[in-house]
Amino acid sequence: MVTSRTGSAPRIDLHAHSTASDGTLSPGELVRAASEAGLDVLAITDHDTTAGWAPAVRALPPGLRLIRGAELSCRWSGTQPPVPLHLLAYLFDPDHPELVAELARVRAAREERGERIVGLLRADGVDVSWPDILAGAGGGTVGRPHIAQALIRAGLVGSTGEAFGPDWLGERYRLPKEDIDVFRAIRLVRAAGGVPVFAHPRATRRGRVVPDELIAELAAAGLAGLEADHEDHSPAEQAHVRALAAELGLLVTGSSDFHGTHKTVQLGAFSTGVEAYERIVAAGVTEVASG
Ligand code: AMP
Ligand code: FE
Ligand code: ZN
Ligand code: FE
Repeated sequence: MVTSRTGSAPRIDLHAHSTASDGTLSPGELVRAASEAGLDVLAITDHDTTAGWAPAVRALPPGLRLIRGAELSCRWSGTQPPVPLHLLAYLFDPDHPELVAELARVRAAREERGERIVGLLRADGVDVSWPDILAGAGGGTVGRPHIAQALIRAGLVGSTGEAFGPDWLGERYRLPKEDIDVFRAIRLVRAAGGVPVFAHPRATRRGRVVPDELIAELAAAGLAGLEADHEDHSPAEQAHVRALAAELGLLVTGSSDFHGTHKTVQLGAFSTGVEAYERIVAAGVTEVASG
């Protein structure tokens, strides 16, 4: 049973990034910040990597529980061009060979895409440097937020949000990467003993979203839950996701998707109920770590 340190309902945030991908707090800083924010449970879910798990566990403050997870870069090829989507995976075996290989492949594809985006920018006379951007990622999974930082450093945009606008990384300089087929990703996460949850499935403000019929197919293929409460969902989108989850028998989560100063959202801004948490813990092969 998870209990709260304050006697009220436990505060559970199941989606957060560290410097192991595109967050700005190190894994240790992230778990300390979660504790200071009064959270009882945090999931570390860096993009396509488990590299933050060990340092986060080592730094885990007393009273905080840590769910080890990741956010997998996926795509659905049922329409052209394929729709990119994110799959949160919780409590899986980080040594499952096929999953390890697939994550390594996606990280390499991210580097290749990042370098091509920089090539497009440079061809247009934008003075950004791929080696600087890679260095800025500090060995973590590289993503567009790192390129956004280079645009900010060059004085071309004022914020990460602006860098994701249509003139920059949101459209003009947006290139696809070789993401994992979403059905394969669900199969791999389940094979590794993990619990797959579709991250921000209705985030129309991020771009195209997949149809509900696809979500029903994913549920039949082993998807466990849907992230409903998220800053990229309008209240109507949150309600829609909840209703769909109820219809399909999926669990529902809410999470901040915290990225440190790369986004404005704060830890615990959205949270998950205890019942969903207990279902995830019961279904996962990895123990929840306790501080
Ligand atoms: P990538 O994974 O390289 O395609 O970059 C996408 C990542 O950028 C997402 O996972 C978010 O973390 C971040 N992101 C997307 N849109 C925005 C935005 N408008 N402002 C800040 N960060 C964003
Ligand atoms: Fe991110
Ligand atoms: Zn995400
Ligand atoms: Fe995320």
